[in-house]
Amino acid sequence: MNKPTVNILSVSGGKDSTAMWLLAIEKGVKVEPVFADTGNEHPMTYEYLDYLERELGTIRRVKADFSRRIAKRKEYVVTHWPSKLQKDVPGQWIKISDEEDLVPPAFEPPDPYKPYNGVAGWRWEPTVKGMTPEETEVIVQRALTALVPSGNPFLDLCIWKGRFPSTKARFCTTFLKTDVIYEQVVMPYLEQGFKVVSWQGVRAEESHTRSKLPEREETPEGQEVYRPILRWLVDDVFAIHDRMGVKPNPLYKLGMSRVGCMPCVNCNKGELFEISRRFPAEIDRIREWEAIVKQASKRGAATFFPTAHGQGNGIDEWVEWSKTTHGGKNMDLLKAIELADDPPMCSSVYGLCE
Ligand code: SF4
Repeated sequence: MNKPTVNILSVSGGKDSTAMWLLAIEKGVKVEPVFADTGNEHPMTYEYLDYLERELGTIRRVKADFSRRIAKRKEYVVTHWPSKLQKDVPGQWIKISDEEDLVPPAFEPPDPYKPYNGVAGWRWEPTVKGMTPEETEVIVQRALTALVPSGNPFLDLCIWKGRFPSTKARFCTTFLKTDVIYEQVVMPYLEQGFKVVSWQGVRAEESHTRSKLPEREETPEGQEVYRPILRWLVDDVFAIHDRMGVKPNPLYKLGMSRVGCMPCVNCNKGELFEISRRFPAEIDRIREWEAIVKQASKRGAATFFPTAHGQGNGIDEWVEWSKTTHGGKNMDLLKAIELADDPPMCSSVYGLCE
């Protein structure tokens, strides 16, 4: 007997997932749009989702809850942190040159507990001495005070982990989106005997990895993944918005090349520059989050974008870097001129300006 099919369409508030929803409507396919709220979106994206609901129909909103995991973490902190904190943290070589394929030195400096700049292109981040039992107690108490759920999924994920995700450890997508949609939406349908088809708005043009994806595949959990706009170009995406009379997220007209977390851990230099000059409130929010997550971290250090041992000036250091030229040392004069003025009304990287 054929199982009834449900089409789950993951909506992010970005152009591709909206285009996919519009395609489903154009083809007369019934879909269930779902938005996994990370808690790290720009307010305009939430407003845009409300707009889409008014124009196209209801969006089911789901979000992760880390309160149980945070409670377990508290137990772990009490039991395991004292012994861990009393051990040394090994030093490491940090690359300070833009040169690619630079091999790290194969030796430690004479005193690994002190900074060392004697090797071209590298800086030695010193070994951190283990703490005394008294110091350890202070850190444990500080973390226990910080390990309190805020209700914001992104922040709570970082409080639980005691760190921010990064390009190398991108656990955010799994915990904030994939798992949430699977557990709260897909699994209940599978358990009721439905065939679940998950529509994903990814395009081959976006990256080499995405260009290798198939249009359809079965997952080990028993759902089918369908990527209906895999071969579309960005022009096709905006064309369907025009054809169906639906506006793209206004953030595209404000210099953003992608819509999702603001900022995303994958954010590039230009995007960070645009975010900091147009949306300083988002930078302020990240600075506040860094202060909270630091308290919940073992070494009292956590920054949104990676810095050595999570120390440094965090987001502010990166914002300053986003204003520099290639190489990161000199101020970009063009950006300095732009900063002296109000940001232009429209600076779409997709040429969306009317
Ligand atoms: S990869 Fe970027 S957009 Fe995706 S959850 Fe992580 S920070 Fe957010």
